[in-house]
Amino acid sequence: MIPFVNLVAQRNTYRKEFEEIEKNVLESGYFIGGSQVANLEKELSEYIGAHGKQGKNVQTIACGSGTDALTIALMALGLSAGDEVIVPDFTFIAPAECVAFLGGTPRFADIDIQTLQISPVSVEKLITPKTKGIIAVNLFGQCVPFAELRKIAEKHNLWIIEDSAQAFGATQNGRAACTFGDIAITSFYPTKPLGCYGDGGALFTCSETLAEKIRMIANHGSKGHYKHEIIGVNSRLDALQAAILRVKLRHLDEELKVRQQNAAKYDDFFKNWEGVVPQKTAEGNTSTVAQYTLLVQDRDAFIAKLNAAQVPYCIHYPATLHSQKCFAEEDVAAPNATLATRQAISLPVCAFTDVDEIIRRIQTQTKV
Ligand SMILES: *Cc1c(COP(=O)(O)O)cnc(C)c1O
Repeated sequence: MIPFVNLVAQRNTYRKEFEEIEKNVLESGYFIGGSQVANLEKELSEYIGAHGKQGKNVQTIACGSGTDALTIALMALGLSAGDEVIVPDFTFIAPAECVAFLGGTPRFADIDIQTLQISPVSVEKLITPKTKGIIAVNLFGQCVPFAELRKIAEKHNLWIIEDSAQAFGATQNGRAACTFGDIAITSFYPTKPLGCYGDGGALFTCSETLAEKIRMIANHGSKGHYKHEIIGVNSRLDALQAAILRVKLRHLDEELKVRQQNAAKYDDFFKNWEGVVPQKTAEGNTSTVAQYTLLVQDRDAFIAKLNAAQVPYCIHYPATLHSQKCFAEEDVAAPNATLATRQAISLPVCAFTDVDEIIRRIQTQTKV
């Protein structure tokens, strides 16, 4: 069976590096924080700095998960009960959930049906006097139209949180992902393009003030030992996860290149298929291809073919956020998001996926 994400093949490929660093951690006696985490933070900042001019002053703060990172970002930006935050309607639940968890109200914006990214036009329509910010999700690995969003944010005095859970390593017009938001976040969930062996996440900011606040919030509101200035949380990355991420970070650029090559093979294969349209990469973007996603008119028939070909797939995402039971908003106009939930389907694309084999298998099922 072809795995959807082949983490076993990845481990086998870098096995020596993993085993050496894992042994170091286990024998060091330092399991939370310590030099592995400090070095990872430094290396992530350097990676961003090396991938675009604007990343030179970025600071990285590791934490327990991407969801924690979003919550901490909202706390650092001072979200209060009753504040409204605009999020895309077609994405993973975390951005909307974190806003609601802190007593805010998520407002759901529609997407562009070609790129599947949040639509700036839709965002602007949702702005009210209560709106405090936008959570821009770089969905499936490419950046949202940040120039347009930033214009809107400046006009209405809003902050932007950049959710790069799927897009660490992407660029837009030569500028690195994780430098566009006032705060950016990523997730190290195992199947993300840069994933560890458990939960993990990080925040990024170029603001010294925000960086200090984020560090305090993630550490029980404390700068030092047992002095608590503000209310915080416990959100830490452990040393073993940091060590694993340091190995994977060294290989990230090669892996992203293979993901992009895999995506190009699929694009080429599907280009003449009727009723099948690959997600468009917007001009100026390079994508991490966290997911290779198609919009398929008759998704059920397509799935039947994949099943017959024994090709795994995932549906990201089967429902709009506004229609989820926990929100159940009725007056949201997001026709593109709704269409995407009916037509989107993702195929295996990681750097250890044999896309030629997958294409061969699908071809066998489509010959009459
Ligand atoms: C995975 C993901 C998150 C949450 O990250 P976790 O580490 O699983 O908490 C947030 N936003 C998006 C867009 C994601 O894909």
